[in-house]
Amino acid sequence: MAIRPPISPGQWINSRAELLPMRPALTFQGTTWTYRELVEQIDRLAGALHAQGVRQGDRVGFLAFNHSMFLVALFATSKLGAIYVPLNFRLTGAELEFIINDAGVHTLIVGPDHQSVLEPVRGALKCQRFFGFGGHSETWPDIAREMERATPVHAAAEMDPDDVAILIYTSGTTGRPKGSMMTVGNIWATMVNEMLMVDVLSTDTLLTYAPLFHVGGLNVLTMTTILKGAHVVLHQSFDPGQVIADIARYKVTLAFAVPAMLLFISQHPDFEKADTSTLRSVSVGGAPCPEPLLKLYNGRGIAVNQGYGLTETCAMASFLTPEWCWQKMGSVGKPPPLTQLRVIDATGEVITQPHARGEICVRGLNVTRGYWNRPDATRDALSEDGWLRTGDVGYFDEDGFYYICDRVKDMVITGGENVYPAEVESVLYEHPSIAEVAVIGEPDEKWGEAVTAVVALKPGTTLTLEQLQEHASQKLARYKIPRRMHIVPALPRNPTGKVLKYVLRDRFAKSAGGE
Ligand code: AMP
Repeated sequence: MAIRPPISPGQWINSRAELLPMRPALTFQGTTWTYRELVEQIDRLAGALHAQGVRQGDRVGFLAFNHSMFLVALFATSKLGAIYVPLNFRLTGAELEFIINDAGVHTLIVGPDHQSVLEPVRGALKCQRFFGFGGHSETWPDIAREMERATPVHAAAEMDPDDVAILIYTSGTTGRPKGSMMTVGNIWATMVNEMLMVDVLSTDTLLTYAPLFHVGGLNVLTMTTILKGAHVVLHQSFDPGQVIADIARYKVTLAFAVPAMLLFISQHPDFEKADTSTLRSVSVGGAPCPEPLLKLYNGRGIAVNQGYGLTETCAMASFLTPEWCWQKMGSVGKPPPLTQLRVIDATGEVITQPHARGEICVRGLNVTRGYWNRPDATRDALSEDGWLRTGDVGYFDEDGFYYICDRVKDMVITGGENVYPAEVESVLYEHPSIAEVAVIGEPDEKWGEAVTAVVALKPGTTLTLEQLQEHASQKLARYKIPRRMHIVPALPRNPTGKVLKYVLRDRFAKSAGGE
């Protein structure tokens, strides 16, 4: 008989509510729900979704800024054994249409600020049900009304550790986003890894302001904090002044940030005098954390846990504990207990000597089963024995600490968001003045990297950065739109015609630009 441990998110939120009913679970915009109150909301939404026909394995999409409803919907979906599809609220209607239809979303829940984004593509969405929240409209009936009417569903469906619980879309080099499948077992493994690497206590208060649709905001450490029965204070979006105020107001002990957020917080006029004395540690990931930031936060007695990970590793794949942060400066640490790392060379051979660069690969209980309905992409990314190719170049030192030094994959990371040049280039190529274009990342003090277009113009045409941005803004989310442009007579290419991006990077990469 197969063992089915009761570990689905729907099952363990019930167990938290039974064990710690009166503990604060979630605070959003000044309202705090205890675990018992949170589960009451979850049960009502699970009942409403069930009444709308959502069943085991169906997909429920969610599009909104961070909101208490995000977590309520995640756990309600899990109670039905269905699959949660959080959507990136920065995407355009056309980008969202692709993802929603690719995932085959049955029921879509959309917050008040994003209904208009979907209006132009609404007719093309293949969902069975559409709901809004935070205000009623004819086309987006308020899910709260359904929740009032519904018979609550409390018992959570049984799920196997291998069952998919969440689909997180991540862009690929082909420009088409793929749904990385996060299983019940992946979520559990991530929680165990995090609890063993970051000391999360049931008395902790976590401040979450990173977007929950991304594994960083969701898994580091929001889900772990709830599993532990601790308190999450959730912000709608990232506002450095609000972060500083709420650290003191809620006596926040833990937080997650990408380096750009740490920088913005430290540059806020209130930072100098802010009371951050309760903050024990900040977990940082998504990009390398610059040394001055480490020094600044350490100087305030805030430990910085540095992590490296991907959507496909459900967040953390390696971890540098604060104890090692000075001795192993620049390292992303070592894999947590349920995860393994290795480095392979260009032929796929495993590298055994320290300091030799190759592609980082990850295997473990937290690694995705693959991409939704994309066996080809899954085969490219995952070996038969479970090793995920990350597309990141790195090495390990003689003590087994890992370092990320480059990317095999063509990707720009700007303010914590990944931008895949192929996707941006295909939109820019539609501009009538552009003969050739290559998109690269230029170092930028504020954003880490700035999306930069290197353009060769068609004879007799001109193009300004503003015109290029205007063209791109019709098809691409804002963070993907080039912030800089260079015009060149022609792009450098190798004999087979491939654009030599490293030549462009060498030529245009200015040290720490900034805006
Ligand atoms: P995502 O799938 O959006 O989480 O992006 C994953 C990618 O972000 C990785 O493949 C790396 O290229 C990059 N990344 C994540 N963490 C770090 C880090 N600590 N240092 C350098 N790059 C990182």
